[in-house]
Amino acid sequence: MPEIRETRMRREPNRQHAETREIDAVVIGAGFSGLCALHRLRDGLGLNVQVFEAADGVGGTWYWNRYPGARCDSESFYYCYSFSDDLAQEWEWSSRYPEQPEIERYLNHVADRFDLRRDIRLQARVTRAAFDDASNCWDVHTEHGEQVRARFLVCAVGCLSDANLPDIPGRNSFAGESYHTARWPRDGVGFKGKRVGLIGTGSSGIQATPVIAAEAGHLTVFQRTPNFTVPARNAPFNPDDQAAIKRDYAAIFDRTRASIGGFPYFGIDRSTLDISPEERTKILDELWEEGGFKFIWGGFSDIFTDPDANEIVSEYIRERIREIVADPETAELLCPYDHPYTSKRPPIDTDYYVTFNRDNVSLVDVKSAPIREITPTGLRTADAHYDLDVLVYATGFDAMTGSLLRMDIRGSDGVRLADAWAHGPRTLLGLQVAGFPNLFTVTGPGSPSVLVNMPTAIEHHVEWIADCIAHMNRNGQMRIEAAEDAQDAWAEHVAEVAEHTLWSKGNSWYVGANIPGKPRIILPYTGGQPQYRERCQAVVDAGYEGFEFSA
Ligand code: NAP
Repeated sequence: MPEIRETRMRREPNRQHAETREIDAVVIGAGFSGLCALHRLRDGLGLNVQVFEAADGVGGTWYWNRYPGARCDSESFYYCYSFSDDLAQEWEWSSRYPEQPEIERYLNHVADRFDLRRDIRLQARVTRAAFDDASNCWDVHTEHGEQVRARFLVCAVGCLSDANLPDIPGRNSFAGESYHTARWPRDGVGFKGKRVGLIGTGSSGIQATPVIAAEAGHLTVFQRTPNFTVPARNAPFNPDDQAAIKRDYAAIFDRTRASIGGFPYFGIDRSTLDISPEERTKILDELWEEGGFKFIWGGFSDIFTDPDANEIVSEYIRERIREIVADPETAELLCPYDHPYTSKRPPIDTDYYVTFNRDNVSLVDVKSAPIREITPTGLRTADAHYDLDVLVYATGFDAMTGSLLRMDIRGSDGVRLADAWAHGPRTLLGLQVAGFPNLFTVTGPGSPSVLVNMPTAIEHHVEWIADCIAHMNRNGQMRIEAAEDAQDAWAEHVAEVAEHTLWSKGNSWYVGANIPGKPRIILPYTGGQPQYRERCQAVVDAGYEGFEFSA
């Protein structure tokens, strides 16, 4: 994305590394997954590990997404690592939903506390990795010419890290400033007095809108698909609450591992249709007041599967929109009708809908009048031109596969991952790909990943991978690979389970619908975390059933 101004990176001279180092494992990425993998493989198993990270700092998602208003939608006390009780006890979160700088500080603290930095190479984007069948090792190359040979390749590249910049005609002609939310400049952006255009109303756009509106001269939000969002109700962390959580941390983390979505509260098995409308509204009112993801997980269990139940909750949210937004036409435009609630990843917001009551904010429907082009002075839709000084792309990611496919990964017999996945990704449990021995994906496609509180999903995968490598070392095995038939069976199961849910119904990044030409396939496993964990454990108990080893 050359024309997008982004986080400035100190460019290193183009280092040439003539020698190939031989190590045990390469980990790609130094975000939540990569840091965890390095700690577990190096300090738990004693492996010689090298992490390569494209950015000039650790943090992954929380390094890149520094746009105004960026904060986590999961609550701070469980959106963190559970692997160290000392870490959990010593870290103090300031508020219910941590802002991006706080999570970035947390991950930097983790890097220091566990002495991880000495094995992390920053500004080292991996461009190519090729499996050598003769040695059962991966040859991994970075953009600056560094090359290492490793027995294992652990892709900890994140599910949402390959920013999607839509190919709008004239994009490069814009004379003003343009930014993608996932490549935000470290020094920030000044909006004072400026005419700002923002494309996209997913989680990023919905978080950025109120903050940009508070500073800009005028903000125009270009909306293609309205989204259902629920208030976060952020608040400072009360010290007594934090102390109580710390006393109970082990049990809290146990609950995150046992619940469907990785949250420390269990979903309630209650049908929307079995109770009176009055009782239902009372429950929804309470959840709306409490805010956050509990609105999804703590209300009614049938919203994920039953279209009628889902419509009741969808209409409840539309009623709140009509209540909050003063102009009825704008309110109606903000009401989603084209997808069931939660079939697109539901955002959590702070003052999103009420922002449209400001005089300096306008909403433009680019579904009925699509964006035609970007011009040197702004943006043209089918029926108007909007003069702009700043253009913000909150247009999301090539989710779950983009960052893997951006690298040139070649498995056994030189097969390219891009070819193996030409019709969509196929994995065994989201952990391995047939034909790509000794390569592991942390929260890869086909695992619950993005439908689970991410640190919980990540720690589970890192544990599984570390246990698998320990098993191989104990048994003198050099090579592990997903069997083709086991992978096919898993892919079929992932697709079949999704058909019984509403997740496969929306045009969302969950199914790759946001990227033109991307095969439409449900990317995460929708069967829930407990079932998935059981399956992973059963595979291990049956001697890594479905995986093939060789000595
Ligand atoms: P997103 O959910 O994919 O939203 C992208 C938005 O851009 C959509 O409204 C999309 O419209 C619009 N768009 C894309 N191309 C367009 C075009 N050519 N013309 C007009 N509109 C276009 O991306 P995101 O908001 O960055 O969020 C992605 C995911 O990241 C989230 O779902 C969430 O999982 C994660 N995230 C989490 C947090 C958090 O925890 N706080 C914050 C931000 C993001 P359509 O819907 O019509 O395609």
